[in-house]
Amino acid sequence: MKKTVPSHDNSVAIVTLGCSKNTVDSEILAGHLKAANLTFAESAGQANSLIINTCGFIDMAKEESINTILEAAALKKAGKLQTLIVAGCLSERYADDLRAEMPEVDHFFGTEAYSNILKVLSPDLKYNLLGERVLSTPSHFAYLKISEGCDNPCSFCAIPIMRGKHRSKPKEQIIAEMNSLVRQGVKEFVVVAQDLTYYGLDMYGNRTLADLLKEMSDVQGAEWIRLMYAYPAKFPRDILPVIAERDNICKYLDMPLQHISTNVLKSMRRGITRRATEELIGEIRSVVPNITLRSTFIVGYPSETQADFDELCDFVSEVKLDRVGAFLYSQEDDTYAYILGDSIPTEVKEERKKSLMEIQKGISLEKNQAKIGTTIKVLIEENVNGEYQARSEADAPEVDNEVFVRSPDKELKPGDFVMVEIEDASEFDLYGSLSRK
Ligand code: SF4
Repeated sequence: MKKTVPSHDNSVAIVTLGCSKNTVDSEILAGHLKAANLTFAESAGQANSLIINTCGFIDMAKEESINTILEAAALKKAGKLQTLIVAGCLSERYADDLRAEMPEVDHFFGTEAYSNILKVLSPDLKYNLLGERVLSTPSHFAYLKISEGCDNPCSFCAIPIMRGKHRSKPKEQIIAEMNSLVRQGVKEFVVVAQDLTYYGLDMYGNRTLADLLKEMSDVQGAEWIRLMYAYPAKFPRDILPVIAERDNICKYLDMPLQHISTNVLKSMRRGITRRATEELIGEIRSVVPNITLRSTFIVGYPSETQADFDELCDFVSEVKLDRVGAFLYSQEDDTYAYILGDSIPTEVKEERKKSLMEIQKGISLEKNQAKIGTTIKVLIEENVNGEYQARSEADAPEVDNEVFVRSPDKELKPGDFVMVEIEDASEFDLYGSLSRK
């Protein structure tokens, strides 16, 4: 069956997979496409051209990317799609293999391939890449990427292969982007990078995140600034007093630790020991009291013994982090750890993840119950059957907990900051009513 999509139809759709950094890339791309007068289709099935911004981080993510491409290829075969473009990390890493396997795909591009994609979709347009980001998140929050790439040598990680060396974004550009997003209604900035704490080292010769944070905090309209993806080794401690002193910087820090056993950390090439990690957490908590600490761990790393895993469980039980995520080790080509093989069976990895998250569930319930009777500030996200879903300063979007708010007498809107009296708690969520005070 021949193509049924009218060729003059310049509608385009973007499907974004993977992390918040990919979300920012797609939003920047959407801004350029919009400025080039391309129109956005509601969904992939209604578009003339489809761009899939893929993820190539670990097995599960790669699988999801490949399945998404195959679905789009079927649309193309059925004549429901004219141009299929694959971009992002998976394509950056495996373009040749994918090209051989997937002839339906018209173009494979890597990461940050904005101008290439534009040339395909708008060939006759002489155009500078100037468009404003088109947000795909609710308009009251946005991810803010302050750098690209990573110089760290973590043994298990393929990101430097896909995203290249660390490149800080100039401070002026970041502040200009914040002001433009505030004009679009953004109140919360979720600051992301591969390694947040490396900011400035390549461009200014020093780790200058503390200075950047002060300037970001001075942006009128930025009500919450939230820090994600801090790297524990060589942590710039001078950011801590800035977090403590500035009201609009969330008392929140996401710092993936990946493991705690010094043997495993050494094999992972994380550049830090258990002792130094605990000392750092101690300092963070003393300089920024009541800070919410989030971390993620890998279970089933090739050299992880039962004793190493038990040590990780003891650490999580003792240190009582506020938010914890866990991933199964995924053996990735061309990484340092690849030669170690992948000897731990998946069911053992699954079992370890389950045990670790079970420990965290108990800690999370204990911490949530301690909030009953307090009044906290929350950001309203949406109205779900008359009850409002919200997040507190302790909750990053898409990965952390929620606060459910009853407000029978007053209508609330997404993006409203309100005070809530907490009346109940579960392992992961809080429940309360709009404060009358
Ligand atoms: S810090 Fe390590 S885990 Fe994170 S992106 Fe860089 S190499 Fe990968």
